[in-house]
Amino acid sequence: MTFEDLHLISPILQALEEEGYTQPTPIQQQAIPEVLQRRDLLATAQTGTGKTAAFAIPVLQLLHGQAITASQNIRALVLTPTRELASQVGDSFAAYGRYTGLKHLVVYGGVPYKVQTEALQAGIDILVATPGRLLDLLDQGFVKLDQVQILVIDEADRMLDMGFLPDIRRVLQAIPEKRQTLFFSATMAFEVSKLAKKILAEPVSVEVTPVSSTAGTIRQELYYVKKANKTPLLLHLLQHLGIDRTLVFMRTKEGADKLAKELNAAGIAAEAIHADRAQRDRERVLESFKNSETRVLVATDVAARGIDVEELSHVINYELPFEAETYVHRIGRTGRAGVAGIAITFCGATETPLLLAIQQLTGKAIPVVDQHPYPLTAQDFMEAAASSSSKNGNKKGRGGKGKRGRR
Ligand code: AMP
Repeated sequence: MTFEDLHLISPILQALEEEGYTQPTPIQQQAIPEVLQRRDLLATAQTGTGKTAAFAIPVLQLLHGQAITASQNIRALVLTPTRELASQVGDSFAAYGRYTGLKHLVVYGGVPYKVQTEALQAGIDILVATPGRLLDLLDQGFVKLDQVQILVIDEADRMLDMGFLPDIRRVLQAIPEKRQTLFFSATMAFEVSKLAKKILAEPVSVEVTPVSSTAGTIRQELYYVKKANKTPLLLHLLQHLGIDRTLVFMRTKEGADKLAKELNAAGIAAEAIHADRAQRDRERVLESFKNSETRVLVATDVAARGIDVEELSHVINYELPFEAETYVHRIGRTGRAGVAGIAITFCGATETPLLLAIQQLTGKAIPVVDQHPYPLTAQDFMEAAASSSSKNGNKKGRGGKGKRGRR
């Protein structure tokens, strides 16, 4: 199938050609015709499937077909959980819409209001926003949403994880009830589908790559390694695998800062990205990673969500995530839109329960690489088992005492 088969208008076809897109991805093939028919959409798709274009392209086409009013009201609103994702969605509208004459604006917190309010006053067609800043602008009267015809909720699961449900409810009150709604989520947990049911009208459901399955283009590798040896192993792999640029995942902000420092001390240009860094810093860091001045970007899961860097050959899980689904999201940062990628995972002796949960979710064992300078020894596993059983033993001891006490 080609983009022509989807009956796209020539200004969009031309832009897509310049982007180098030759054919629509499965989510685009399924979603675009339905959205063009003005249907509501319930899409299960994770990052890396081409989901952004699956809503941005038909939104641009629908708005382009309408007569533009003098005041240029906001006719499409896209809600995203993070600033990074908002800015990437904005980049997509800019790229695919460059010949449509439609104006879009991205708003998020952490930057001065002035630029955003001036652009809003000048008139825009499409607004991409994180919920918090959108509500601020709404409360101050800088944004009017009464002409919104299309609402897109992107990464709904993450939005709920981050506690945005009350904000979403408030936004819904500010936009017309009669509208088209496009709802995207990587997962459809109970709370997510509950929200979807409430806000969608007879939606068409489309689903690609369920979150439990990892993209076939990603090669996964597992390195068992002691916690204290993880940084030496990372340095070894950076050197021996010829990794030009990589995203390394950490569980905590402190861990991310510490690792970035260690890498810089070892002569590797590294930066940490996490929620505690100022927006200006985060943008600078992303920019320097995109243009390869920074070789290693160390990120926490929330900050990494939505980081869209093309041609990322490797991602590295320095620490395993507490939630198995996060692993699938993390490794989806490589192997995007058909490009091959490698996902490397470091697993310490105490992290094996987290590894098992991931393998249960994906239904596959991650192939182990044992030829490396810092392998875990049987002794390490035994020590980890002993320390965890002594912890459990302590717990049991306390429980026993409690019971006796109650008796
Ligand atoms: P997304 O799932 O929206 O985060 O998109 C993942 C990546 O795929 C982005 O870098 C897009 O530029 C790219 N992409 C989206 N659609 C296509 C397509 N039809 N052909 C090639 N690349 C695409």
